Amino acid sequence: MDIRDTVLAAIGNTPLIKLRRASEETGCTILGKAEFMNPGHSVKDRAALGIVTDAMDKGELRPGGIIVEGTAGNTGIGLTVVGNALGMQTVIVIPETQSQEKKDTLRSLGATLVEVPAVPYRNDNNYVKVAARMAQRLAREHAQGAIFANQFDNVANRDVHVRTTGPEIWAQTGGTVDGFVSAVGTGGTLAGTAIALRERRSDVAIAIADIPGAALYSYFTTGELKAEGSSITEGIGQGRVTTNLEGLEVDEAFLIQDQESLETTLGLIRDEGLNVGLSTGVNVTGAVRLARKLGPGKTIATILCDPATRYQSRLFNPEFLRSKGLVPPEWLEQPQSLEP
Ligand code: PMP
Repeated sequence: MDIRDTVLAAIGNTPLIKLRRASEETGCTILGKAEFMNPGHSVKDRAALGIVTDAMDKGELRPGGIIVEGTAGNTGIGLTVVGNALGMQTVIVIPETQSQEKKDTLRSLGATLVEVPAVPYRNDNNYVKVAARMAQRLAREHAQGAIFANQFDNVANRDVHVRTTGPEIWAQTGGTVDGFVSAVGTGGTLAGTAIALRERRSDVAIAIADIPGAALYSYFTTGELKAEGSSITEGIGQGRVTTNLEGLEVDEAFLIQDQESLETTLGLIRDEGLNVGLSTGVNVTGAVRLARKLGPGKTIATILCDPATRYQSRLFNPEFLRSKGLVPPEWLEQPQSLEP
């Protein structure tokens, strides 16, 4: 018998899949951890489970309670899946710039959605700060408790990757992994996986794949938090050193432009059957860069974060891509069809 008690037990233990083209191009074994196969279809299901379990263990949250979070979408989806399974409500504060698909998914799952204008973190009306204030108010009003999940600065996020993602990659590669690369939203995935892998092999290479508009490439290469340009990639791109990132040192930092991650993403979809979104393209491009640095024969792991369908109206929309200065592939202009 192989029966999971609830959907929570289906989070994690995702397959590690060899990426054909990236491996062929580099002479390395490049592996993608298929986080889009989680129940809420993203890497953030792990963080959601880690944060909610931690709050329950501390007695801050009980069934009937409310989980409040500021999120670009995937954490909200993860928290709502976890909350629904445990009989908790979710209130999700999301910048209005995020994709319609993620907002629709949140609504269909039953989350209460609060859309706010996208403003920087230093502004009091930033989505994270609005969520923190709403959580405080709801905690006073609601007998069963309300928490601010606080994914950026709550290390229960990073810890779940120390306990699960890192050890899984180590076990799945039989301890042969030479490098790990990830983009950063909160930093939980990169920092947590790095801690777990370095505990097992101190010289494992850890790399950040960052995007224009974020400040961490600059931070890790010059020590200064400086952002330039912008990116259409959702869910990643951090302007500060979150608590989850504190203490992290990386061996390599890469800055990946949108055109390159777009081509990598569409290649993974069309040539390898991997239904992934743009942050995955950033990760896999970063893995190829790390492979070139380390040389042939190495084993490098990265994260396949979430599905392309979460960005359908943007990723597969030539007009949208062109409006952002990107060159869509030819096949996107002429969708294939056949007379019946
Ligand atoms: N990719 C996507 C699509 C995401 O939504 C996120 C999380 N915001 C990440 C990558 C990065 O994960 P983390 O928050 O652990 O840095």
